Amino acid sequence: MYATLTEVKKALASGTTLVDVLETYFSEIEKRKNLNAFLEVFHDSAREQARIVDQKIKEGKAGRLAGAVIAIKDNICYKNHKVSASSKILEGFESLYTATALQRLIDEDAIIIGRTNCDEFAMGSSNENSAFGAVRNALNEAKVPGGSSGGSAVAVAGKMCNMALGSDTGGSVRQPASFSGIFGLKPTYGRISRYGVIAYASSFDQIGVFANDMHDTALLTEIMAGKDQMDSTSSSKEVGSYTLSPVSGGKKIAYIKEAFETEGIHPKLKARLENTMKQLRDLGHSVEAVSFPYLEYMVPTYYVLTTAEASSNLSRFDGVHYGYRSPNAVGVEETYKASRSEGFGMEVKRRIMTGTFVLSHGYYDAYYTKGQQVRRILQNKTKEIFEQADFILTPTTPSSAFDVASVKDPIQMYLQDIFTVHANLTGNPAISIPFGTDEENLPFGLQLMAKPFAEKEMLDFAAYLGEQNLV
Ligand code: GLN
Repeated sequence: MYATLTEVKKALASGTTLVDVLETYFSEIEKRKNLNAFLEVFHDSAREQARIVDQKIKEGKAGRLAGAVIAIKDNICYKNHKVSASSKILEGFESLYTATALQRLIDEDAIIIGRTNCDEFAMGSSNENSAFGAVRNALNEAKVPGGSSGGSAVAVAGKMCNMALGSDTGGSVRQPASFSGIFGLKPTYGRISRYGVIAYASSFDQIGVFANDMHDTALLTEIMAGKDQMDSTSSSKEVGSYTLSPVSGGKKIAYIKEAFETEGIHPKLKARLENTMKQLRDLGHSVEAVSFPYLEYMVPTYYVLTTAEASSNLSRFDGVHYGYRSPNAVGVEETYKASRSEGFGMEVKRRIMTGTFVLSHGYYDAYYTKGQQVRRILQNKTKEIFEQADFILTPTTPSSAFDVASVKDPIQMYLQDIFTVHANLTGNPAISIPFGTDEENLPFGLQLMAKPFAEKEMLDFAAYLGEQNLV
């Protein structure tokens, strides 16, 4: 089994071929089929890629990702391959083009091994909202893997590939990474092109990275980052190298006082955080409490704005343009109605209806406009904190992975996102780092948030935490 690119490269250097490595991953996927992490394994195209990359390695012409075997969330387009956003409504649909970020990986000789299960249209925190069944945690099958990019997290944690892509609109990369004991990074909004990612909430969505080590996390992020003519919200700011380098000098770390006082934080997680903060101080960093009195507005603001955007983005799935069409409907209106009623799952319908309501005449100002105003306040306050601090430290989630089918109330489920939605509301980059375990041996995650476009500093500091045994 190969957990990282470094391990694959070692095997390649001692004579193993990439075709062999790929077969090892295929058999791992087969062995752990019950986890339901993959919706489809791209056996043929991945073998074909592996043969080509093996040849390139022989000729000394291989790219920087030769040896990377990558799984993609089922909402990222890959030409001539199916994509469904784990929804029945996209039944039979095949991508007509490849997402820019994915193309950049392929251009560096990454192999794309398959598409992973996720919550339908990336809406969820437990991966129980897929039209193709729930995904199970690779570390404990009675537990959820987190969501919405659960399949990608499980694929990496279960060593069915060495890296994976997810999308993070409110924590969908960081939370499952935390539940799976691996690294998960969400870049600054605009750092990575969204072209070819099925939109959920366009002003929040970003592609994110799952990996088993910091080196792979940095490399994958760097290669995908940068301006794309096809996405006008992508930033033209120069990317530079994300190759990890040592941290020099004392850093200023802020922790949000109210986050620590949040009810329901696992006591072991809290104790571990306090210990890490003490050790950071001992190493010469400053660790200061800051007040962020808006914590309770975070989740409601997120859900008002993202459902509004979703109701608009998902209007294109109408039974006419592509995907599922109800076989019984007669006429245009009935086709729309029946196709959408039959094609979308429960949670997606709930969000479309909520979003339509907050955008409706008469309620627009009370909800949508208000939500935008609160978002601005959150952004200003966060900016103010980052004038004094290099990083904000919080848990990724209040606790470890919960039992499958144990959270029934959608509001309880939404509260899972309390620490992760912050970075999406403000656009900052954030990473989840494995952070010890609870009494059942289930992992916790530590979240590090940085200034916009400070991915390099954030990656270096995350690696430093590992080197110093602070996580
Ligand atoms: N759990 C959050 C939600 O349900 C986050 C989803 C995401 O980041 N895609 O919306």
